[in-house]
Amino acid sequence: MRQWGWVIFWGLMSSSAMAEVGVLNLYSARHYPTDEALYSDFSKATGIKINRVDSDDAGILARLKSEGSASPADVILLVDAARLWKGEVEGLFMPVQSKILESAVPAQLRAKPTETGGTAWFGLSTRARVVVYDKLKVARQEVDTYEKLAEPQNKGRLCIRSGSHPYNLSLFGAMTEHLGPVKTELWLKGLVDNMARSPKGGDTDQIKAVASGECAVAVTNTYYLARLMRSSNSAEKAMAERVGVVFPNQSSWGTHINVAGGAVARYSKNTDSALKFLEYLVSPEAQNHFANGNNEWPVVQGLKLDNPALKAMTGGSFKSELIPISAVGMNQIKVQQMMDRVGFK
Ligand code: FE
Repeated sequence: MRQWGWVIFWGLMSSSAMAEVGVLNLYSARHYPTDEALYSDFSKATGIKINRVDSDDAGILARLKSEGSASPADVILLVDAARLWKGEVEGLFMPVQSKILESAVPAQLRAKPTETGGTAWFGLSTRARVVVYDKLKVARQEVDTYEKLAEPQNKGRLCIRSGSHPYNLSLFGAMTEHLGPVKTELWLKGLVDNMARSPKGGDTDQIKAVASGECAVAVTNTYYLARLMRSSNSAEKAMAERVGVVFPNQSSWGTHINVAGGAVARYSKNTDSALKFLEYLVSPEAQNHFANGNNEWPVVQGLKLDNPALKAMTGGSFKSELIPISAVGMNQIKVQQMMDRVGFK
């Protein structure tokens, strides 16, 4: 039935307009090859082709800004809470109402509703920012809270990627919520004092540096570790076996989690399809894909997780922090200033 609808509709349109109807322009910062299956399943189910532009979070926001109302973007996927917040406050997203998304995504993992009841962005999957350590050199209880990473016992041990990377800005923004700015700045200073080397590389590089003995403690998002644990490459598997993993702050506020999420672009001309795509991303199939394809946690509650690496890491479940993820973004400027003062590169 739907197919006939398309045929009749398309018959009335010029060829250039036709191209727009069946195509969704996606600007995506998801840098995970396993996502290909997500997009092709959506296209198969709906007949809507996805035209993807890849960049990082900052690149996408800059591009949307410079394109303004001429932007062809329909839907945006970013991989960090602070950047989602930034896109929202800069007016780059179109707040939408969707019963499907509102019931699937817990309130603390999406933007605060606007005055008219729309939501600017929705978290679609979560990842935890955890500590890995050299099991030969470090006792688990020396690194079982974020606060302890800054204590003298961990001097010369810590490897971490650049403080200005969104994953760290969000972690530090969350710490500012938990500890307040004064204690957080002292904590950041302690991290700088404890570094084994100047920040460089991505999260996987930090895990590798622990496995090679260059540092004894590092900070990483969970999916990078899970990827090594599930690797078919024996050297990578061995690296994952050498390191221990801690979900910090289980006895206090819980481990920091970040979201990857999506939004409808402010000037989309295909809002129905854009919304359909976001709603598809909270379907059990898509959520399962985030969990099994990219080793993230679904935002939808009650799905059965069947990922051996995530299970091995957590022993089944863990306590995550409950601050609204939107609060993390609001601390960005403060965090950047603190890092400048303590010399966190
Ligand atoms: Fe990542």
